[in-house]
Amino acid sequence: MMLIEPGEYAVVFSGLDILVPLRKAGEDFEAVLFSETEPFSRLAWLFPDDDPAADAAGEALSAALIETLSAHGTSRIPTARFQHGPFRYVSLSLDDAVAEQLPQILHFERFPVRQMLSLVSQEAARFMLKAQAHAHWAEVSRYCGACGSPLFAGHEHGDPGGKYCPACKRFFFPKISPAVIVLIHKGDSILLAHNRKFTAGRFGLIAGFVELGETLEETVHREVMEEAGIEIKNLRYVKSQPWPFPDSLMLAFEADYKSGTARPDGLEIDQLGWFTRQTLPEIPPKGSVARSLIERYLQAASAGKP
Ligand SMILES: [Zn+2]
Repeated sequence: MMLIEPGEYAVVFSGLDILVPLRKAGEDFEAVLFSETEPFSRLAWLFPDDDPAADAAGEALSAALIETLSAHGTSRIPTARFQHGPFRYVSLSLDDAVAEQLPQILHFERFPVRQMLSLVSQEAARFMLKAQAHAHWAEVSRYCGACGSPLFAGHEHGDPGGKYCPACKRFFFPKISPAVIVLIHKGDSILLAHNRKFTAGRFGLIAGFVELGETLEETVHREVMEEAGIEIKNLRYVKSQPWPFPDSLMLAFEADYKSGTARPDGLEIDQLGWFTRQTLPEIPPKGSVARSLIERYLQAASAGKP
């Protein structure tokens, strides 16, 4: 059995961490991640479909990975396959015990996917975001929600990425949870909030999940009222970004302050306030949609039109 087919790209996730080859000091992160040289000195590999030498290397690596993992007792089942532009990847279903040991077995280290986004190219980041989302979905979608039978990758129409129940003939596809995030302007300042889950001192934007039956606009108004206690106006859509932690699509907005006194809800948000370019606290890392919204504000502010 081929674990990794030539032309595919294997990614090993463990929760919200990615398993990354141990790096030497000063080594470029993306170069290590996308390296095609040393077996097991890396997390992942990529082989162009039209390169026979790379295909052969892929087969050798695949065989070696199977041998290594089976020696440690893993069930080594490819959970799912997916295609994204030039990339194809396989997410691996590993026994929990093996997943725990894998960093030692393969000389990998755990690395938070979120942190990786600021260290690799946009193309690589997009690929990893999709792989992360798909790997998570495949991991938590092992059985049919209707009849309880085990699911199998793919389905009879051959579409990649989905799962199929042979008992009741249902098809399943990755689920996406839409969420909104909003940057609120008040004069030349913006509202920033500290979520209890953030590290101390870091501030982000008001955000929340879309509920059943809501429009995106209703979600933004509700979340802002719930979390910050204020009303907003002039709501405008800015952009969207996949955010697979674990399965969100972030829909980013801007709005203007209308009324009320901003206060934290004390549940999700424990501090918030209005900040200007000069008083900005620590903000979310590059690669996040919150960061890009705040950077838009900073650019406009430095151009003299907040
Ligand atoms: Zn079923």
